[in-house]
Amino acid sequence: MNEIKKELEEKKEDSKESLVGLSLPALEKELSSLPAYRCKQLYEALYVQGVRDFSSLTIFPKDLRVLLEKKYTLRSFKLSDVQSSMDGTQKWLFKMPDGQEIETVHIPEKTRGTLCISSQVGCTLTCKFCHTGTQTLVRNLTAGEILTQIMMAQDFFEDWKQSKNSRYVTNIVFMGMGEPLYNYNSVSEAMKIAIDPKGLGFSNRKITLSTSGVVPFIEKCGQELGVNLAISLHAPTNELRSKIVPLNKKYPLEELIDACHAYPGVHKYRKITFEYVMLKGVNDSPSQARALIKLLEGLPAKINLIPFNSWPGAKYECSSIDAQNKFSNILSKAGIYTFVRRARGDDILAACGQLKSKSERERRARH
Ligand code: SAH
Ligand code: SF4
Repeated sequence: MNEIKKELEEKKEDSKESLVGLSLPALEKELSSLPAYRCKQLYEALYVQGVRDFSSLTIFPKDLRVLLEKKYTLRSFKLSDVQSSMDGTQKWLFKMPDGQEIETVHIPEKTRGTLCISSQVGCTLTCKFCHTGTQTLVRNLTAGEILTQIMMAQDFFEDWKQSKNSRYVTNIVFMGMGEPLYNYNSVSEAMKIAIDPKGLGFSNRKITLSTSGVVPFIEKCGQELGVNLAISLHAPTNELRSKIVPLNKKYPLEELIDACHAYPGVHKYRKITFEYVMLKGVNDSPSQARALIKLLEGLPAKINLIPFNSWPGAKYECSSIDAQNKFSNILSKAGIYTFVRRARGDDILAACGQLKSKSERERRARH
């Protein structure tokens, strides 16, 4: 009996609308019967103070809190699972009200903490080395769902501006599941709140959007959001890139590199990051390193070499340390700032390209 009651209550909770993701004007529209100053207070409570349930909204009269509570929620996700890696990386599996799941990863470093967030459940693109790419797109995330990942991480660390000075969540990268520029509207709505000084208050310099190269949205993203740009390059020629990043057939390297040259705000001190996954015998030869230097000539670029992270069923192997070092040295000698990204959290499949919702993994395992 108690089980049934609990299930019904959970269902009722799931059908509530989330206020997270609403901008101030959208909040005023949604709560049009409230005076404007109340909406302002609510906006601040939501995004600056991190109020996560209406009962803590003590500046509101009790009857108003009860009314809001009946219809709305401030945290629509349930935490399905947390996994902690030996290196301190944590992977959270969140369940959304429709039952879909997404993964968010927190990577602690000495003086900062990077949160790797998802923009879609699955991905429509099929990069050959990516685990997420083997899961077809289930759906786009809403702006609220993108923000909820950040806000629940802040809840977890009690890392709200008002409660602590040190910040566990200092940087945000769109390197989780999905292609953010194929969900541009939600990503931009969410990021506008994330960078609003009266919202979550992140600097756009602390946010990096990683794309496999959706050219038409690159410039828009720079103009509207001004976040850092990372391009998943992975190959120096169209022939190879089209094989491993099929989107290259639609937006070939010439167009992609032109879009990078035109990216607003890029200069010597604000470079574009080019991600390059190291695949043994595929893209890791010295001549490919030289071709890469030529391709990026004249661009304020830095290169992030990512040792390939394996996953069950992957057809690639990671380049040897020797090949990685040789490749990296050639680039560095040419004056391009290059770093090899140490895999973080790969013992819990939380490293780049290893994410895939648990339900999807289980579904595949059954077939
Ligand atoms: N869809 C976006 C962002 C998510 S992927 C994009 O493609 O940029 C984040 C990064 O992980 C990308 O650079 C992607 O190419 C890389 N990646 C994907 N699978 C990987 C794997 N198995 N090992 C290492 N990096 C991988
Ligand atoms: Fe999608 Fe990025 Fe994976 Fe390619 S690398 S399949 S764009 S998530």
